[in-house]
Amino acid sequence: MSNRFRIPFRDLSVNDAGLRRDLAAAMERVLVHGQLMMGPETEQLERELAKRCGAPHCVAVGSGTSALYLALKVLGIGRGDEVITTAMSWIATATAIVMTGATPVYADIGDDLNIDPAAIEDLITARTKAIVPVHYFGRMCDMLSIMALARRHKLIVIEDAAQAFGAQLAGATAGTAGDVGAFSINPMKALQSLGEAGAITFKDESLGGRLRALRYLGAQDRQLCVSPELNHKISEIQSAFIRVYLSRFEAARERRRAMAQAYIDGLKDVVTVPKSESDRSAYFDFTIDADRRDDLKVFLEARGIEPKIRYALLLPDHPGLAADRPVRAPRARALAQRILSLPMEPQMSNDAVNEVVTAVRNFYRGEVP
Ligand SMILES: *Cc1c(COP(=O)(O)O)cnc(C)c1O
Repeated sequence: MSNRFRIPFRDLSVNDAGLRRDLAAAMERVLVHGQLMMGPETEQLERELAKRCGAPHCVAVGSGTSALYLALKVLGIGRGDEVITTAMSWIATATAIVMTGATPVYADIGDDLNIDPAAIEDLITARTKAIVPVHYFGRMCDMLSIMALARRHKLIVIEDAAQAFGAQLAGATAGTAGDVGAFSINPMKALQSLGEAGAITFKDESLGGRLRALRYLGAQDRQLCVSPELNHKISEIQSAFIRVYLSRFEAARERRRAMAQAYIDGLKDVVTVPKSESDRSAYFDFTIDADRRDDLKVFLEARGIEPKIRYALLLPDHPGLAADRPVRAPRARALAQRILSLPMEPQMSNDAVNEVVTAVRNFYRGEVP
């Protein structure tokens, strides 16, 4: 896909010849063994993902949305239940909740752009069954506070770790701090595939068999349908590709961290940058809190730089995702007008990062468009 931007938000082409070779070899392996669905690559991938996260178990599925939806389903969440989540996330967080039949209840966020643990308690009712914290932009939520609160009120915690593979905070690792973790592994995410993919991590071994049944039509041993479900399988070729990306994950993560540090150093005196305790962030995005955000976006675009507003609408403002009671989320509402995500992906050069920094600084210095 050609892009009109010189510095695109994400460049999804694979420019590294060594990586291209590894991906081709992975594909070759699958073509030779011919098990295109639920084969050895997927089994290996599940083991490798669990190990990397420090999770006892993992089931790979067809997308991050499927991962979140099946995590909710397997824990018995459905019609009549309320699920508390953040007002600010990608729509998949809420569509997964709504598709189980449960009602999303939206909480306000803190300065870290994550759900504010203090805002959760007020929203708990007799119908509340679970909390879905989202590690937004790759930075982990305050899981210590959230888990303590959940234990006190006997609530289940399902982490939407879609953006946060590899993230850590205060000794907790994304996907293992809650009862169940859901990851997306699509081409935009910190750990990627070359198509749609996701994974569920969990501690309770008894969930494994049920999740594997739910992954494929709700059928035991892929034969006997016990609780009807759609098809959420991952393709073997994606599992093989993900294993390649996983083997190179540390290098990509270091690269993201170095770029984030360059942005922080270059911009901290002109905009609000992520706080330093987020240095174990997965840096899915590098997101700033900026005065005159919309003008800054236009200014950068005019210079061939592609920033993104993630996302213009809060979850409760989508017609299909509205809550059934009034939503109080003043900080989310204010920050939604101020945040801007800058280009950041491992293939980006230091020169490109510096160019973005210079352009942002020039904007605040009053350079005319
Ligand atoms: C990407 C994403 C999802 C959904 O993942 P898919 O693989 O695209 O289905 C869910 N939640 C959040 C926060 C995401 O960013």
